[in-house]
Amino acid sequence: MIFLKTEDEIEKMRAANLLVGRTLAEIAKIIKPGVTTKQMNKLANEYIRDNRGIPTFLGYPNPNGPDFPACICTSVNEQVVHGIPNDIPLHDGDIVSVDCGVLLDGYNGDSCYTFQVGEVCEEVKKLLRVTKEALYKGIEIATAGNRVGDIGWAVQQHCESNGYGVVREFVGHGIGKEMHEDPPIPNYGRRGGGKMLKNGLCIAIEPMITMGTHEIYLMPDKWTVITRDRKPAAHFEHTIAIHHGKPDILSSFKEIEMLEV
Ligand code: MG
Ligand code: MG
Repeated sequence: MIFLKTEDEIEKMRAANLLVGRTLAEIAKIIKPGVTTKQMNKLANEYIRDNRGIPTFLGYPNPNGPDFPACICTSVNEQVVHGIPNDIPLHDGDIVSVDCGVLLDGYNGDSCYTFQVGEVCEEVKKLLRVTKEALYKGIEIATAGNRVGDIGWAVQQHCESNGYGVVREFVGHGIGKEMHEDPPIPNYGRRGGGKMLKNGLCIAIEPMITMGTHEIYLMPDKWTVITRDRKPAAHFEHTIAIHHGKPDILSSFKEIEMLEV
C-alpha cells in the first residue's frame, strides 16, 4: 500500500533525512587510511542518538540470518550493499559506501554515499561520478505524472551507456513511517512503465552500480552482498518527495561535498 504524505509529514521526513546527511558528513570527517568501519559505526551511533534520532538499521531483521548488528552499512570495494562494520582498517585507494537510516519524530531518513579513502584510481573515481550522476538523473525525471519505470530507465541508461552493471536484486523503495514502504523503485526499467508518481509520494532512489557484471553474491554472514567478479561497486542514495509536482530532495550531500573541495 502506498502512503502519500501531507506537507507536515514531508517536513518531518526532511528533518530525519537532514540528520542522516549530517551523520554521513560527520563520518566523512574521519574517513582516511587506517580508520575502521567499526569506528565509523560508533561515531554514527553517538551522533544519531545525541540528535534524538534512532538508528533504524540496528537490529533490522533478516529472515535468513542474524539481525543487522550495526547502525550503518559499510560496503568496501567489491561489497555492494549491507556490509557489516568491522575492525579491518581501510586502505589508501579503497572506496566505502556508507548507508545510514534514522527514525526521528516517527519518520524515517535513508541516504547513502560512497566515499574515497585516500587517493583512488581514475577508473574507480569515474564509477563514483557516473553512479552519482545516475542518481540525479533518476531524481530529475521523478515529477508528478511520470512513472516509477521512468526513474529506473534514466538510471539504467546512464550507467549501462558507461559500460557499468545495474544490480537487479536490490532496489529503492517508498519511505515514511516505515523505512521500506511501497512502491519498490528499481534502478532499471521501461519508460512509462509502473506506478504513477503523485504529489506526497516519498521514495528512496538508490542506484547500486558495478564496474563489471551486475551479478552479485551473498556472503555467508547473510548480509554482505559482493559483486560476483569482485570488481568495485558504488551506491548513492537520496530520499525525495514528489512535492508541488517536482522532486524535492529531502536528504543532503551538501555537508559532505563541502569537505571534498
Ligand atoms: Mg539506504
Ligand atoms: Mg534505502
